[in-house]
Amino acid sequence: MNIFSDINCYGQCLRSWAPIVAFIVIMSITSIAASLMLKNPKKRLQTFIFAQVSGLIGVASTYYLMNCSEMLSMYLFFAYMVISTILILGTLRYYDRIMIRRLEAKPAGSILKWTQEYVDKLTSARVYYFDSAVPKAFAAGRSIFISIGLLETLDDDELKAVLAHEAWHIRHNSGMPFLSRLAMMAFSSTSEPELEKQADRFAAEVAGSAALFSARNKVDNVFI
Ligand SMILES: [Zn+2]
Repeated sequence: MNIFSDINCYGQCLRSWAPIVAFIVIMSITSIAASLMLKNPKKRLQTFIFAQVSGLIGVASTYYLMNCSEMLSMYLFFAYMVISTILILGTLRYYDRIMIRRLEAKPAGSILKWTQEYVDKLTSARVYYFDSAVPKAFAAGRSIFISIGLLETLDDDELKAVLAHEAWHIRHNSGMPFLSRLAMMAFSSTSEPELEKQADRFAAEVAGSAALFSARNKVDNVFI
């Protein structure tokens, strides 16, 4: 059975329901296109998940409403939707582990013991360092990542301010809905200035505003 006879069968089987199913399918395709164009990582992800879910609803309703023989391409499409949804959710769940592998990150406590001890007092998170000359720090899942460049650029007090800033993100992450959490993982510092301000306020409280200020002066705002 090929895809053209499938499409033909699709129309035949769904005669009265076709407009509704077509609407769901078009909605799904439009939101996939929109998710590729949106710049804000949170909105992008929300749109993408919306596309996946409406795609699944489209497939499931077609399957339910069909009166004629089963179609191979429906099975393939359904399998694609299920697998890609599982992959996305898996990526969300294990994002920090993926980053550890990708960056070949190692426990920061192994080279600077106090960094892990310092973060332990603020939140439950592991601190990792990774090889990059660019001074960068970010939080993902329950992990904080700092670059070698950051360690070389900042003194201890400034580094504490940055760690406190990231620790706030982690603390804040755990109380947030799933999607917002992922958006934070996507380092949307520029799109969520309010969260950055709050993280800075916490960092200034814990590590002192002078240390935070000089850290911010050394590191581009986008990178912490
Ligand atoms: Zn931040």
